Amino acid sequence: MAAIPHPLTYRFPPSLTVSPGQRVLVPLATHKAAGIVLRATGKLAPGIEAREALRAIDPEPVLSSELVRLGLWISDYYLAPPGEVFRAMLPLRREIRHARHVRLTEEGSRRMQELAASLLEESRGSREFALLAYLDRRPGASVENLRKKFPDAYPQALAQKWVTVEEVKRERNRRKVLAVRLAGPLPERPPRLSPVARRIIETLERQGPAEDHRALLETARAHLANLRTLSRAGLIELGEAGPGGVWSGNQSEPQSHEGMTSSPRQRDAPATAGETPALRRQVPGELEAAPPLTPAQFGVLSDLFPRLDSGGFSPVLLRGVTGSGKTEIYLHLIARCLERGRSALMLVPEIALTPAMQSLFLSRFGGQIALLHSGLTERERDDAWWRVRRSEAKVVLGTRSAIFAPLANLGVVIVDEEHDSSYKQDETPRYHGRDVAVVRAQFAGALVLLGSATPSLESYRNAREGKYHLVKLEERIGGRKLAAVEVVDMRQEFRETHTQVPLSRNLKAEIEAQIRASAQTMLLLNRRGYSWFLLCRSCGETQRCVNCSVSLTYHRREHRLTCHYCGYSTAVPSVCPACGSEYLQYVGEGTEKIEQKIAELFPGARVARLDRDVARRRSEFLRVLSDFRQGKIDILVGTQLIAKGHDFPGVTLVGVVSADIGLGLPDFRAAERTFQLVTQVAGRAGRGDAPGRVLVQTFFPDHYAIRLAAEQNYDGFFNKEMGFRRMMHYPPITALANVVAQHERLERAARVAKEMGEFFNKVERQFPGIKILGPGPAPLAKVERRYRIQYLLKSNSRATLHALLKQLAHHCAQSGVQPREVMIDVDPVNIM
Ligand SMILES: [Zn+2]
Ligand SMILES: [Zn+2]
Repeated sequence: MAAIPHPLTYRFPPSLTVSPGQRVLVPLATHKAAGIVLRATGKLAPGIEAREALRAIDPEPVLSSELVRLGLWISDYYLAPPGEVFRAMLPLRREIRHARHVRLTEEGSRRMQELAASLLEESRGSREFALLAYLDRRPGASVENLRKKFPDAYPQALAQKWVTVEEVKRERNRRKVLAVRLAGPLPERPPRLSPVARRIIETLERQGPAEDHRALLETARAHLANLRTLSRAGLIELGEAGPGGVWSGNQSEPQSHEGMTSSPRQRDAPATAGETPALRRQVPGELEAAPPLTPAQFGVLSDLFPRLDSGGFSPVLLRGVTGSGKTEIYLHLIARCLERGRSALMLVPEIALTPAMQSLFLSRFGGQIALLHSGLTERERDDAWWRVRRSEAKVVLGTRSAIFAPLANLGVVIVDEEHDSSYKQDETPRYHGRDVAVVRAQFAGALVLLGSATPSLESYRNAREGKYHLVKLEERIGGRKLAAVEVVDMRQEFRETHTQVPLSRNLKAEIEAQIRASAQTMLLLNRRGYSWFLLCRSCGETQRCVNCSVSLTYHRREHRLTCHYCGYSTAVPSVCPACGSEYLQYVGEGTEKIEQKIAELFPGARVARLDRDVARRRSEFLRVLSDFRQGKIDILVGTQLIAKGHDFPGVTLVGVVSADIGLGLPDFRAAERTFQLVTQVAGRAGRGDAPGRVLVQTFFPDHYAIRLAAEQNYDGFFNKEMGFRRMMHYPPITALANVVAQHERLERAARVAKEMGEFFNKVERQFPGIKILGPGPAPLAKVERRYRIQYLLKSNSRATLHALLKQLAHHCAQSGVQPREVMIDVDPVNIM
């Protein structure tokens, strides 16, 4: 019921008692759909017709009343359909699976006979015949399969009505819970066991039979496949857990189990197959004690503990310079929660940050933590989610959507790097994870701690105005100095050298010195790929995306041009498609090119790269992180991924190859982003015992964002930037919404924009003080084939803006505008 803008009413049979927050299967038009019970009342009002719900999907509610309330708040605040909000909140596997089976029709059978009987060789050799014969042997083959096998013949057979497609919806089987016990005393000479097998057996010896295999897997850090291997070896017995967790007596291994078919070899592999050995190895058998606190950390905690213990809502902003030990504050708050029987939730902006955090959390809290982020498989996420729901895991660490973790009795919500724009979801529901964190803490009566070295203007303003309590850590741990930052004027560099090279003489000399001293260097360039675009020097055309109004980026490894917005990719042309000229030139430098240049310039150095292209291959990504931390890499080139939160003690030089990318964008947050990025990456230098140095290359050395970041002067930047926002009427001074009419056909997009414009004209007087800018083409005028026409709405009163947007959404629905034709983004972080 994704796009239905309002809740629906159903009748429940007397045999079915449900509570709010429970998932139910209901009829919707001609099919079945999963829904969430929002409210259960005794009787229907007279005159209301309602269809009967089919069954409960889970025996108990999946969402607490607190989370149902949060979902409704998000739906209202961000103007998103409640069904889409609840779907985003429940990362559970689909309850209904759709499958499309293909069968021969009578006509198809006849045609096949005809062809088979034909005297012509080519009839029997045709693709058409092959397809029909294939279906005859395998009735019910899937559409996907046939499309792949018979790309030409299948559409033709469909058009001729020789085949027919049946839609089958199957309800998914519920997962089996297995009971596990030792098969008997271990044999005298036990077989050689893998470490994971040993952990399983030791856990069973220590704790006795396990009633739920998932808890055992967690404790023993094992996979289901490991249990099956041990069961086949006769060392343990698996059975079906009965209703109350009673051993059912069925000692043979249950045969069918979903998921086992996928890739048995890998899943049956012993030890830590498929997992990250580097991570696992860092987990000691015993929990680690916390290091001693610095006086500053102690001061902050003695301020925060009473707020935590009070059991009421308390919003706090922690501004701590890079390397000041914010993480230790988080860990102490979480430990305090656990001591008092409450649960804790911590968000980090990037999956990239979870491996390091995860091993830290595991070392302190052991099996009590659950990880929730989009890098998990569906199955892993499902398991983690249910462990949290059953209160087996009381600490959740995750990215944005982990804010919906079903923790009960929440004591603290922590948002690390709270300024980070990846907390904002860029599809419906377009919520901001940090803002939702504050609301969730409010509903739960919890402490919410927003932490950053460079707080967002929104949060710092709230702190200044007393809405948030402000605590600070102003010095680095161990009296370490913040790295000294030097700005390199690239205009000057060009005037003196008459060449345009990515590395200034100064930065080059510094890197050489680092290599001589066997010290590590990080180089930041916030642009991935090899070159920004491919330019024709004869006619000036650049190769552009067919779906979006952007240039394609050249990726050398694949030797292809790729769109960073929609993923479209194409071969590199040898001549200009516009004029046929051969003079094509790669323009601009991306991380791939810098990595190559660095390797050429410093042949002895070990160079690696970290950006989203590398991060896509998770194992490679983890390997680079771990190699760099262990000093096996001398120079790491990367995008903002390397600027965030990491702690690499060996890094003493950070070079910002170009600080200017982003400054020129038509986005009012450009200066704030640049300031944050440069300050954050400078913060990666000198975190160990040796002091750090930072070189920032720029063509705008006088820009205040660059200058104040070099001084690491947050207050100076805040004051300057707030002046700009006040003058231009931008957040956080005003409330802002981005409203975009979008469609594959430009005329339709324009029609929708006109409809909205007429509505604005009509109601403008009812909403005094709202500024409406537009309509105009969005800065990205076309994305994923859709043309985009934009309005920006600003208001000093959030309530007025909200009321106008609600009326707009209602008006659009009334006038036949489809939900996908309008994008409403409340508090946008990106107005491109
Ligand atoms: Zn050309
Ligand atoms: Zn594109």
